[in-house]
Amino acid sequence: MKDNYELKQFQKHFMILVGVFLPIVWVVVWCVLDFEVARAWLISGIFLLFAVCVYIAAVGVQRNLYKEIHNISRLMVEVVEGNEDYNAEVYREGSIGILYTNFYKMVTVLRESQMKEGKEKEFLRDTISDISHQLKTPLASLGVFIDLLYEDKLSQKEKQKEVLQEARRQLDRMEWMVLAMLKLARIEAGTIKFIRRPCEAECVIAAAVEGIKYLVEKRKQKVVVKRYEGEPGDGKIMISCDGEWLTEALINLLKNASDYSKEKTTIKIILEENELFTRINVQDEGVGIPEEALLHIFKRFYRVNNSVNPGSVGIGLALTKSIVEGMGGKIKVKSEPGKYTCFTLTFLK
Ligand code: ADP
Repeated sequence: MKDNYELKQFQKHFMILVGVFLPIVWVVVWCVLDFEVARAWLISGIFLLFAVCVYIAAVGVQRNLYKEIHNISRLMVEVVEGNEDYNAEVYREGSIGILYTNFYKMVTVLRESQMKEGKEKEFLRDTISDISHQLKTPLASLGVFIDLLYEDKLSQKEKQKEVLQEARRQLDRMEWMVLAMLKLARIEAGTIKFIRRPCEAECVIAAAVEGIKYLVEKRKQKVVVKRYEGEPGDGKIMISCDGEWLTEALINLLKNASDYSKEKTTIKIILEENELFTRINVQDEGVGIPEEALLHIFKRFYRVNNSVNPGSVGIGLALTKSIVEGMGGKIKVKSEPGKYTCFTLTFLK
């Protein structure tokens, strides 16, 4: 492709125009205006000089214009070839300026979508590797249990029952983990849409407490739901959230509160409301979380105290955080080892 094609075309058309008009000017001056031949030549000469000046000016403007177009085209090639160091700080007036601005906007959008695509791939890779990594150990244990039973290596009925019970536990753990991981992956990939509507906070809490009723009864723990001191006791407290998902988030927190507390302790759910936000605090009297772990507690597969709950996978809090943040809320944790842990969910009004 010739890069000066337009200029050549312009030159051609200009020559034709001058070639046609010059004799016309000469004829008009000589015949119609009845001037002498010498004057006709003089006026035609002036016309030619004027045409040459117009030509030089037009070619100059065009050359500048084409230079800018070449620059943009060169930048496009650089962007396509992945060269990140092109100069984006060009400010110009007029149409060329607008072209540059729109070009940079396009490049920014392109880069953002490339980055998003990269992050999505990374997320998928991490999720797959997390799931497969976490499944390896329980699957290997199940394989050993099956071999033991199949090869009749456990003669005592008691031993066989123990192995089967352990296999059941591993299966439950795997099932819970896979379901939680899938939910987390779907939330993070944005395929789950939270439907936020005003929900009565006390109803959501009651549904969550129902979900862990069996667990706390077994451990003789007490769950107390109350309003923050100074809060009027009447009137409904509303939260703008997806009720079912908030119930799930609260169940995770309540289950942890029960798992990491001794028998006969109390789990408090404290509701707080003002003009700006609604807050739910879930506070236990359990083992607490060391200060250095508080920073990492919401990361996937992060576990702290395995001797208290050896079955911990470290996915519940990551899922809870994703749910709460997916609904526009915030989650925070405070703890004093040996005394208490308190998770706070805040939803702005
Ligand atoms: P899981 O999915 O196994 O329930 P979580 O993500 O819920 O794990 O919790 C991660 C870690 O955070 C746990 O291993 C535990 O050490 C700690 N943790 C969570 N909640 C509490 C709590 N209420 N009290 C003490 N430690 C807690």
